[in-house]
Amino acid sequence: MESNTDTITLTAQCHCRALTFTSKPIPTTSLPLKATNCHCNSCRHLTGSLRGSTDILWPGPPPQPSDNLKQYAFSPRLNIYFCSHCSTTLFWEDNSTPGVTNYLAFTGVLTPSSPLPLGQNLIEWDAHMFLADTIDGGAVPWLNGLNPPSAAKPRRWLGWREKSKEITSEGYWPEDKNILLSHADNLLHLPEKEGNIPLKCHCGGVDFVLKAGNAQRDLKERQSKGGQLPWFVDPESYKLLGSLDGCSDCRLVSGTEIFAWTFAELKHITFASDPTSPLPLDTTALQSAIGTDPRLGTLSLYPSSQGVQRYHCSTCSAVVFYACDSRPDMVDIAPGLLHAPEGARAERVISWSWGGKLGFGSDMAGTWREHLPAAVEEETEQFRLARRFPKNFRRVVKEQGAAQAVPGGSGQV
Ligand SMILES: [Zn+2]
Ligand SMILES: [Zn+2]
Ligand SMILES: [Zn+2]
Repeated sequence: MESNTDTITLTAQCHCRALTFTSKPIPTTSLPLKATNCHCNSCRHLTGSLRGSTDILWPGPPPQPSDNLKQYAFSPRLNIYFCSHCSTTLFWEDNSTPGVTNYLAFTGVLTPSSPLPLGQNLIEWDAHMFLADTIDGGAVPWLNGLNPPSAAKPRRWLGWREKSKEITSEGYWPEDKNILLSHADNLLHLPEKEGNIPLKCHCGGVDFVLKAGNAQRDLKERQSKGGQLPWFVDPESYKLLGSLDGCSDCRLVSGTEIFAWTFAELKHITFASDPTSPLPLDTTALQSAIGTDPRLGTLSLYPSSQGVQRYHCSTCSAVVFYACDSRPDMVDIAPGLLHAPEGARAERVISWSWGGKLGFGSDMAGTWREHLPAAVEEETEQFRLARRFPKNFRRVVKEQGAAQAVPGGSGQV
């Protein structure tokens, strides 16, 4: 779309719309704004996003504290500002330079005031940093097409941008293929404790365990007795589906474009403080336990639409679960909270659906993010082929036109 405006403004708005911040006028000649993506453990545990955090220097007045704008001390130098109602992460406050305070806005919450001139990008990601924290590369393999082809790919750094080793090779990182798993690797035959994956937010107020190894053994036994596996379980590896999600709601609450989810039955998630006790076994009981069962810690609930519950940490803002009334015995899990020893993608636990259509990618149509779904679809497919992985079970089902319809859900393939 063409526009005659010489300047735009940006708004940063949370999901529930209790908070809206507006930038100064930005000359369109100064676009695109430069963005950084941080894949470090802390950012993944803060947002719940496999992608970590993504931000620009906020070209506007500092956000003013209010009842709805909550602050969290992320580190001695960095604070986070988020909505106390819906938990949308909006800003970083960076005090790392003495006497200077910078504010950075999460890119996922940004909307320009008017359509950009034809061919003009709003944001250009110029760095992926802290790849080393991910061990396996995390979401980086499918985020090199974030920028349109006319722009450079983001540079990749093992730690801080420009202060650590840069990955300059063309291929995927890590380059040593031996440390990556195969499609079939799972937890079935590993000791139980190796399959107990901490599910924990940055502040530690939400501290659960995904009993992924026990879940795989349980599901295999269920299958052997003729029982039906849930739609999100790989019928050969018993791993849990991992799917990417382009929807606007998950983008807003996490502050990051291209969210990801994995899925589990509530009976396979326990309390870290009480490891033999599962969480309440259905989503109605889980809702009722908020505020009454101290083992849930800082887990809080935001009913984002009719019959849908989004769970987050009320202290640090991390996205934790998505639940809906039509699927009472399971939740969607924010994979950025998983602490799997093999890496951020938790590939012994999760069977990722790569290639094919990005779920809810159509939410980006007509916006400055319009190019993202096709880029991610292409890059995930290339990554799948390079890894020699077969098409994910759920993608096969979907392409056969037999996908089970789950009304009201998010994070579906
Ligand atoms: Zn809000
Ligand atoms: Zn980080
Ligand atoms: Zn927390």
